[in-house]
Amino acid sequence: MKGCLHMLTMIVIATRNTGKTTEIRELLKGYPVDLKNLDDFGPIPPVVEDGITFEENAYKKASFTARVLGIPAIADDSGLVVEALDGSPGVYSARYAGENAQDADNTRKLLSDMLGVANRRAAFECVISLAVPSGAALTYEGRCEGLISESPSGTGGFGYDPVFFHPDSGKTFAEIGLEEKGKVSHRGRALKEMANEFDKVLLWINQQMPGQDKQGCMGNCNTGL
Ligand code: IMP
Repeated sequence: MKGCLHMLTMIVIATRNTGKTTEIRELLKGYPVDLKNLDDFGPIPPVVEDGITFEENAYKKASFTARVLGIPAIADDSGLVVEALDGSPGVYSARYAGENAQDADNTRKLLSDMLGVANRRAAFECVISLAVPSGAALTYEGRCEGLISESPSGTGGFGYDPVFFHPDSGKTFAEIGLEEKGKVSHRGRALKEMANEFDKVLLWINQQMPGQDKQGCMGNCNTGL
């Protein structure tokens, strides 16, 4: 039982990335939520992602968006952490090869930095923050371990996927399908952690923002569902 079907809690996913929106919608399917993303609203100022941890950046995005739009917001921040590079590229994963770097530039720089390095251990990390306009927030984390391959392999996914070899799958993340990746990936794991206690999350939102769970209520809410 997941609450009254007529009472929808509106939550904004603080992204314009349709891939992330789809993944989050899929995991929260069946819960009484009306999930929006930033494209459903007018322009809002960009968030400066200048935190030094994934948690800081995820919280910045979620709390800023919740405050500006006046509704609960979910944000994720993620990246690749390479053991032999002392945790780089980390929070700088998206701009490892420079401010306007593309995925291929970042991957090339990573392979060049790893040339001749024997220790190939790495992990993708993801932090999800769910914040309300007052600034209170819940945090979920996911991690996925793997190895940096010697050369890119596969055409799926994005970012560092072609050089991230996942031993349990026997393939790089660019070679496994989206569904398989979602089951083992850092983002999939963090989202699952949130989804597993989503009933409690909705109660928490209602405590923080009394009346919020009645958004979208079409009446006739005495069905006991
Ligand atoms: P963001 O959290 O969307 O800002 O992602 C930060 C950067 O980390 C991305 O631009 C990618 O370079 C990298 N990254 C995060 N998650 C993944 C993933 O699942 N596969 C490959 N690269 C990723």
